[in-house]
Amino acid sequence: MSNDDTKAAESNVDTSQSDLKHQYRSMNLEQLKALMNDSTVSKNQKKKIKKQIQWMESVDGRKDRRKEKRKQRALKKKHLFEEHEKDASVELPPKPKKPRKEKISTTLGFSEHVHVAVDLSFDEYMTNHDLSKLRKQLGWCYQENRRCAKPVQYHICGLSDRMKGDMDQSYINWDVHFDLPLYEQFKKEDLVYLSSESPDVLEMVEAGKVYVIGGLVDHNRHKGLTHRIASEHGLIAKRLPLEEHIDMKTRKVLTVNHVFNCIVAFCELQDWKQALMRAIPARKGALPLQCET
Ligand code: SAH
Repeated sequence: MSNDDTKAAESNVDTSQSDLKHQYRSMNLEQLKALMNDSTVSKNQKKKIKKQIQWMESVDGRKDRRKEKRKQRALKKKHLFEEHEKDASVELPPKPKKPRKEKISTTLGFSEHVHVAVDLSFDEYMTNHDLSKLRKQLGWCYQENRRCAKPVQYHICGLSDRMKGDMDQSYINWDVHFDLPLYEQFKKEDLVYLSSESPDVLEMVEAGKVYVIGGLVDHNRHKGLTHRIASEHGLIAKRLPLEEHIDMKTRKVLTVNHVFNCIVAFCELQDWKQALMRAIPARKGALPLQCET
């Protein structure tokens, strides 16, 4: 170790003894060995440093032991499988605890499932920054659907090249429906457009219906846009029953993923107040209403 290194090791070490323990954990072997020769370091600390040195010097041995253990386990498993092939009464080892999730998306039994579609026809209203937020929101919906108790059929309708461009490419393997634009994919009578501007309240979430969320991040620049478009297409539009069940500090327009979360939470809980409280983030200041109207 050069003089400079030793100095660096020493200057790194605030020899106030209580801090030392945390510092030597991030030191390399040479620095630790230098400390062993430092007369200002207490006996007690040196004991600990010595232990750390021994631990670091035995790293290869530990790696080899782990490797050997893995090899033995694999051999044992292989042997068990071979025995099981010959004699079915030989028990196989239990399956790993976390089985692969079953595939959620299906094109079978349309009327037996709740469908949630994100309508991606609003690219032109969004800046690149908005679009990248929307990409994230689509991913969060996906994650929520994978982990929730009652997943829905999740449809992403009309993914444009502009949107695709900067998506994290793992999206290709998502277990969702990548569908045609909304109106080409579904019959109008199956659609319920979700819109905070609608005078009508969403009371139930039913199988066989497609609940549409406008794929739009606009910071309220285009207030009421999705409601207007839904009306022009002659669709039923509904708002979430926010004011009926919760008291919210902020405005009642939610993001795509929070609307998605509200729907999946309702599918599980069948109770709007509980579902909204679970799905809407605390920073929105949502409190349950005491007396329902
Ligand atoms: N200015 C946009 C707001 C986009 S918010 C607009 O006119 O729609 C993204 C989407 O979430 C909306 O298009 C709508 O489908 C859904 N959404 C947001 N808040 C909602 C609410 N309170 N009730 C129902 N849907 C809502």
